[in-house]
Amino acid sequence: MFEAFSDNLIERCWNWTGGYCQCTRYGHGHKRECNQLLDKLKRGHRDGKSAWEAVSISGLYLDSMRDCQIICWPCFEKTSSGDEAEVNT
Ligand SMILES: [Zn+2]
Ligand SMILES: [Zn+2]
Repeated sequence: MFEAFSDNLIERCWNWTGGYCQCTRYGHGHKRECNQLLDKLKRGHRDGKSAWEAVSISGLYLDSMRDCQIICWPCFEKTSSGDEAEVNT
């Protein structure tokens, strides 16, 4: 099983987005689309608004642009922290 997209797919996905965050999730504090401008060199930097990651919409990392979503780091953090929200006891 693949746990990540191929560089080739990410490249194509990146070009399609034009370098903007594709996040449309609610509860992130942005409008329907985030549209944060990203820095291509900052993939996976885990710091700053222009850092970004490629996430799988289905969670299965299908080799398809439809499954590959480029999102900014702040959105990625909010998305991934959802699973661990019940830390407060
Ligand atoms: Zn974003
Ligand atoms: Zn977002």
